[in-house]
Parts: sequence; structure tokens; C-alpha cells
Amino acid sequence: PTPDPAGIIIFGASGDLSFRKLFPSIFKLFKNRKLVNFYILGVGRTNYSDEDFREKIRESLGNNELISKFLNHVYFLSGNYDNDELYLNLKNRLENLNNKHNTKDNKLFYFATPPNIYLSIIRHLGKFELTKENENYSRIIIEKPFGRDLETAQKLDFELHRYLNENQIYRIDHYLGKETVQNILMMRFANIVFEPIWNYKYIDHIQITVAEDLGVENRVGYFENTGLLRDMFQNHILQLLTLIAMEPPASLDADMIHDEKIKILKSVRPFDIENLNDFIIRGQYTKGIINNEEKSSYIEEIGKTSTTETFLAAKLLIDNWRWSGVPFYIRTGKRLKKKVSEVAIVFKDVPHSIFSNFYPVKIEPNALVIRIQPDEGFNLILQAKQPGSKICINTLSMEFKYRNFFDYEPQDAYERLILDALLGDQTLYVRNDVMEESWKLVTPVLEYWENNNDGIYYYPSGSWGPKEADILIEKDGRKWRKL
Ligand code: NAP
Repeated sequence: PTPDPAGIIIFGASGDLSFRKLFPSIFKLFKNRKLVNFYILGVGRTNYSDEDFREKIRESLGNNELISKFLNHVYFLSGNYDNDELYLNLKNRLENLNNKHNTKDNKLFYFATPPNIYLSIIRHLGKFELTKENENYSRIIIEKPFGRDLETAQKLDFELHRYLNENQIYRIDHYLGKETVQNILMMRFANIVFEPIWNYKYIDHIQITVAEDLGVENRVGYFENTGLLRDMFQNHILQLLTLIAMEPPASLDADMIHDEKIKILKSVRPFDIENLNDFIIRGQYTKGIINNEEKSSYIEEIGKTSTTETFLAAKLLIDNWRWSGVPFYIRTGKRLKKKVSEVAIVFKDVPHSIFSNFYPVKIEPNALVIRIQPDEGFNLILQAKQPGSKICINTLSMEFKYRNFFDYEPQDAYERLILDALLGDQTLYVRNDVMEESWKLVTPVLEYWENNNDGIYYYPSGSWGPKEADILIEKDGRKWRKL
């Protein structure tokens, strides 16, 4: 589908996100003829002229005829976010651009400033009636973090809802734009073979790993104030978990899917704060070696002592019929051994092994591994006869790789998600109650950690996290998968 004509207004357009993700994605939409009648208006404090801004984008995207055509749709407006003058100018500018580019007064505002500016922008957009809809639409895409905890998230949401309806608000979680994350829904609900065994009777446990080998890099200030629980767990990981755990929605309708997500989040057992280490442990990287390169510690990088977590391991239980007694083990961290994200559904052993007399070693359980990145695809781990005269069983991994099967150029998540927002499809965005429920789960842990400096465990860069993460799973008689 091709979206209706629209203007895309980006607040914070001179920043890292805009140049690394937004402009390349919007340009791809233009290249693929998804954008025909449109304009892009960058907004910021930097004093760029339209031409300066176009040059900046040219520097980052490259220089060819198509890019020049694209840049004919790009403009910049500078000003101060707290000042009415910016929004008056904005209103005038939008009217002109709307006439010039025939965009039917449709507006998509992208909030790509630091989050402490969001409230000021939204109040002003409201005051100057830029969030009003008649025949046209006015939508906002808002970047994480949506608040710092339950209270601030609710406050931000309250303000947004003073000026906008929920169907105008697109809370972006770029994980949901990934091909392999969406594939979870297809795997589960377009096949008959998985659903009958997708429950406590056949599944022993689930492991979700989201590992990065990079450290905090150039986002030191941001990360030090945020930590991994807010940055990864509250959003991406809980979203992944809901897709794995939710009941089949009756249709692909956005609200139907969000309704099922909410039910799961409400069924996740709250963290037992008294015995927190049995359910979640936090870690921080020290120096170490990755790919033969020496890496410094987090503390050295930020230049002061800190208890900000760069690693988490957690065990979650979902108290409903389907998942009774099935732990979801989660590990995520920076500066781990390698960059890899996957979900492994580990099945139970067969009820009675007829091979045990011949083959006394414990047989590896079946597992379905959904590889999110890199090397997108999945593996089904089975046991099979090893060729030879003896009864010898060996593990067989049936492997599907996207890139072998499809003529496949991975689409950036932002490209898909911006297109969805232009099309008015909120399926891959986060609804307010889903976001709030996630905050309800993590806020008690954040508060506990804030008031208790104990219980941060250290791990060398290039490892798989502190030994306490191993203890968390091993005391249940299980092990992290070797990756
Ligand atoms: P950024 O580069 O730090 O800031 C974006 C722009 O906002 C800056 O270029 C600056 O433009 C303006 N700005 C900075 N500080 C400001 C202040 N105190 N008051 C007013 N304007 C200010 O941020 P970013 O990394 O692009 O991220 C933008 C948003 O996306 C953030 O909310 C971030 O949490 C979220 N996000 C980013 C990433 C990422 O990969 N970068 C990933 C996920 C989410 P002017 O100086 O021209 O005004």
C-alpha cells in the first residue's frame, strides 16, 4: 500500500537518530515510491538554513540524482522549543509546505529530541492547534524512553492525551519492526504444528538472549541515567516475551493484538523484592578482550563510580493456564562475547526413553530457536540416528536462514515502522496500557536498586556476564544455551 500524502516534521532533526536511522529510512521510502507528495521539515535549535540542512543530509546519504530529488522535499526550521515563536513559525511554515507539496494537511510529527523536551513540544502543538484532525490527520511518533518509571510514564501519557487521542500516538519500539520479530506471529499462528505443544505440558522453559558486544560507546551520558532495565528490558524484551507467550488473537487487528499482550503482562508474576537475586540480577562490565581488542571498564568510560547496570539476567513466571511453572529466562547485556539475539523454546524430555540402556548420556532436549539477529532465521533442534551400526543418537539442527531462502535485503525496522505510521497502522507500535503495564513490572526493581547499592555483579568484557547469572538458572537445574 502507498500512504496518503503527508508532511513529516522531525523535532531534533540534527541529532544522531535522525541521521543514522530516520533520513536513510525515509529516503528508502522515497526510493521505493512510497512517498510521492510529501515534505520533511527538520526542527531544532541549530541555526541551519534549508540549504545547510540539505547539505548535511547529502553528506550522510551520498550524492546522486535521486538524492537531489529527495532533498527538494527537505526543509529546516530553527527555534527554541520553549518559545511560542517557534510554533507560530512552524504553523505558517506547515501551511506553506502543505500548499506547495499537496499534502492534504496530513502531518506526522516525529519526536527525536531528548525526552525531557517532549512535554514542552506537545503542549505547544496543542496550544497552536497542530494536533487537530478534520479531514486530515495529525499523528506523532514518540521515541523511547516513554518516561523513567511508572509515574513519569503516566504523566507523559496524561499530557499526550490532553491533546491527542490514542489513535494519533505511535510509541515506537524498533524491535517490533524487525522481520524476525514479526515472524514470531507467523510461526505461531500460521502453522498448526507448534500451537498444540506451545504450553506447560511440552515446554520446559524459554530463554531470551539479547546480547551486544559493544559497550555504551558515544551514549555514555544517556546510558548512565538509564541503565539496561529501562533501555532494553522494559520495552524490547517484554515485547518479545508477549509475542512468544500471548494467546492467539482473533485477528491481526492492532487492538486485538495489544489486548492479548496486556493479558500476558498482567499475568507476569511481580518480582519478589525480598528475594530479588532469585529473579533478577544486575551486572556491569569491567575491562576485558573482545575480538582480540582490549576494552576498558564501564567505570573507566564514564569516569566515575556507578551502579548503572549494563547486564541483566532474569527469571519470569507467567501465572496463567498456558505457562504455569514454565520459567522465562532472560539475559541481556553490553560488552558480551558476541552480538546475538534469539529466543529459544526448550521442550521437555520424552516421557520414557527407550534408548537409555544403549545411550546413557542425557539426550539434548528439542528446541526451537528463533534467531532475531544476526543471521536471521530459525533452528529446530531434533535428535536423530547417527549413521553407523550401533544405536547412536546425535543432535540435528534443522536450519532455516532468511538470506538463503528469500531474495532478501533486510529492511530497516525504522523504514517499516515509519511507513506503518503513515498508513495509520498501529499494530507494531506500543499501546499506552501495554507500556504502563511494563513499567508496573519493572518500577519496584528500579526503586529497590536506586535505594540499595548492593548487588551489582561485575563481569569482564567479552564474557557472558557475571557468574551470578549462571547461578540464577543453574539452581533450577538448567543452563544458558552456548552461543
Ligand atoms: P541527540 O542526538 O542527543 O539529540 C537530538 C537533537 O535534539 C540534537 O541534535 C539537538 O538538536 C536536540 N537537543 C539536544 N539536547 C537538547 C536540549 N537540551 N534541548 C533541546 N534540544 C536538544 O539524541 P538522539 O540520539 O538523536 O535521540 C533522539 C531521541 O531518540 C531520544 O529520545 C533517544 O532516547 C531516542 N532514541 C535514540 C536512539 C539512537 O540510536 N540514537 C535509539 C532509540 C531511541 P539541536 O541542537 O539542533 O536542537
